[in-house]
Amino acid sequence: MDWNEEVDVIAVGTGGGLAGAYTAAREGLRVAVIEATEKFGGTTSYSGGGGVWFPVNPVLVAAGADDSIEDAHEYFHAVVGDRTSKDLQETYVDRGRTVIEYLLEDPVFSFIAYPWPDYFGKAPKAKLDGMRHVVPAPLPLDEVGEELASKIRGPLDNDRLGVPADNSMLIGGRALVGRFLMGLAKYPNASLHLNTALVDLVADDDGNVAGAIVERDGERVAIKANKGIILSAGGFEQNQELRTKYGVPGVARDTMGPWGNQGKALEAAQAVGADTDLLDQAWWSPGMTHPGGESAFALWFTGGIFVNQDGNRFVNESAPYDRLGRDIIRQMDEGSVTLPYWMIYDDKEGEVPPCKATNVSMVETEKYVDAGLWHTADTLEELAAKIGVPADALVATVERFNKFVAAGADDDFGRGDEAYDRSFTEGQSPLVSIDQGPFHAAQFGISDLGTKGGLRTDTKARVLNAAGEVIGGLYAAGNTMAAVSGYVYPGGGNPIGASVLFSHLAALDIAGK
Ligand SMILES: Cc1cc2nc3c(=O)[nH]c(=O)nc-3n(C[C@H](O)[C@H](O)[C@H](O)COP(=O)(O)OP(=O)(O)OC[C@H]3O[C@@H](n4cnc5c(N)ncnc54)[C@H](O)[C@@H]3O)c2cc1C
Repeated sequence: MDWNEEVDVIAVGTGGGLAGAYTAAREGLRVAVIEATEKFGGTTSYSGGGGVWFPVNPVLVAAGADDSIEDAHEYFHAVVGDRTSKDLQETYVDRGRTVIEYLLEDPVFSFIAYPWPDYFGKAPKAKLDGMRHVVPAPLPLDEVGEELASKIRGPLDNDRLGVPADNSMLIGGRALVGRFLMGLAKYPNASLHLNTALVDLVADDDGNVAGAIVERDGERVAIKANKGIILSAGGFEQNQELRTKYGVPGVARDTMGPWGNQGKALEAAQAVGADTDLLDQAWWSPGMTHPGGESAFALWFTGGIFVNQDGNRFVNESAPYDRLGRDIIRQMDEGSVTLPYWMIYDDKEGEVPPCKATNVSMVETEKYVDAGLWHTADTLEELAAKIGVPADALVATVERFNKFVAAGADDDFGRGDEAYDRSFTEGQSPLVSIDQGPFHAAQFGISDLGTKGGLRTDTKARVLNAAGEVIGGLYAAGNTMAAVSGYVYPGGGNPIGASVLFSHLAALDIAGK
């Protein structure tokens, strides 16, 4: 092999995987950080919170969290079950706090406790006060600098709607990415390369990975990696062909992942014998449909109910978004729900749907109305005719729901029974009556935050082959690895957490720590 360049570590992808790049650089390794797109940050930088679910980390302890690692283990295992290895689960729960400790040794990093209730409030040892979740501290422009800030992807409105990015204060995932980039800038042994995509892995005669072929500005470059390659290249949510191949529900149009998440790193690893798991899985959510036809991750509903094509409610509308999304997909599989479904709401908050976090901002009301996505009528009967559902069923559904509101309990779907359901209403019931005309309907579909199936790894993030053996030199993290959380989303901060933690552990292993 004629190598063009040589380093110790190639870190592929610049979302949460920047933790691995940063750790490798800090441990004295020569690291090349490669990013397929024109900006750093991936889906991670789209996250308004940038939160990580790392129980009992020093920031939470200092904030007075009443928790223990044993409780966190019990919760995590109770909700994930045996779908993924217990060792991997224990590593995630145990080591999250150590990565926060590690990062806080560098003043560039700062996190804030941000209470966010666990997503299975009735599971044993669920943390209902939300104290397993921290977010990066906002990052002012004068600290990060305009040049670096302008290279960080997001916010979503910038990519999706062309709204100029406000870099005066980076928040959430953009702050996390900014802090990692600032951390990396201190190490001359790290080099960063935008517009540079991994296209192939090169294995030696023993099957160990020795380097990578990357495409940089249209040219193929062979980079030798003397110690290891960390794949944190996100999922393949933007690749419709792979979605279809692996049976991922939903379509690429409706994913929140950025365009670069095409699954090339996954395919390159498969080509050198890597085993995979959970390939039909994603982090799901309901999606409010926008005028372009795409349904985007929506949460925080302050009113309304969802009804299906029969005019019936079919889910707990206030459930955590992944549970809600999975519930809808299950009922689609069973044939009881077809897309689209509708949010029905009254005029208490006006014509705009009572949805406070659309992630991609809503545009002018006329555009939704003109696209046939939002409807208004004086009566529920007329509204039913407009959206093509049986009028008597819709009227009966709303009457029944209003009785639940009056009684303060949703007998059908338990809306409001868990802490998360009440997290946007300051602990109060999220049930709001639908009785003040005119009445409205808004179209909804399914969205995802990215796929979560990928390369099987051990607890050091080393990629395994089908025989369960380690493929030397190859590591995976985040959405490129088969998710430690299996079929569920235990709590806010698991996706970025898995990317940050496992890329960090990969780098420590490479460094011999
Ligand atoms: C609005 C929103 C809010 C969210 N909030 C949270 C939250 O608070 N906490 C949380 O945990 N999760 C959150 N999520 C989910 C989370 O953002 C993602 O699941 C997570 O960031 C994925 O991280 P990652 O590092 O695996 O991939 P990404 O962050 O997507 O990074 C992958 C990077 O790899 C690059 N890449 C891909 N292929 C190649 C290649 N062949 N060569 C080189 N580079 C490549 C991509 O361009 C991309 O930049 C949120 C998602 C959304 C949309």
